[in-house]
Amino acid sequence: MTSTVHDPPVRDPIEELRTTLEEQFQRHSDQLAHLTVCSRQPDRGGFDDDILQALIGSSRQVVADTARALRRMAEGSYGACERCATDIPLQRLEILPHARFCVPCQRKRTG
Ligand SMILES: [Zn+2]
Repeated sequence: MTSTVHDPPVRDPIEELRTTLEEQFQRHSDQLAHLTVCSRQPDRGGFDDDILQALIGSSRQVVADTARALRRMAEGSYGACERCATDIPLQRLEILPHARFCVPCQRKRTG
């Protein structure tokens, strides 16, 4: 990408994250639908039952967190920690766009 030295980036990083979140939501929804179909089959689609349940659980969590992040984006509260209201660094959001907490709060939650 070419730009002059003095101009700030034109693209809003939040818009980039919205695209990432929408793609992530779609991907995990599709995966969750697929895993749910597998779970109803007698052979569990070839999955180990415990692994399948774990995959469904984590997919469901990502879908829920991603939907929540997109809703917060629509409301204008995206990017603030849900616990202490500090702005979550963009660097963290780029790695984990559905992050709900800043790093210190996340650490406190997971112990
Ligand atoms: Zn926090």
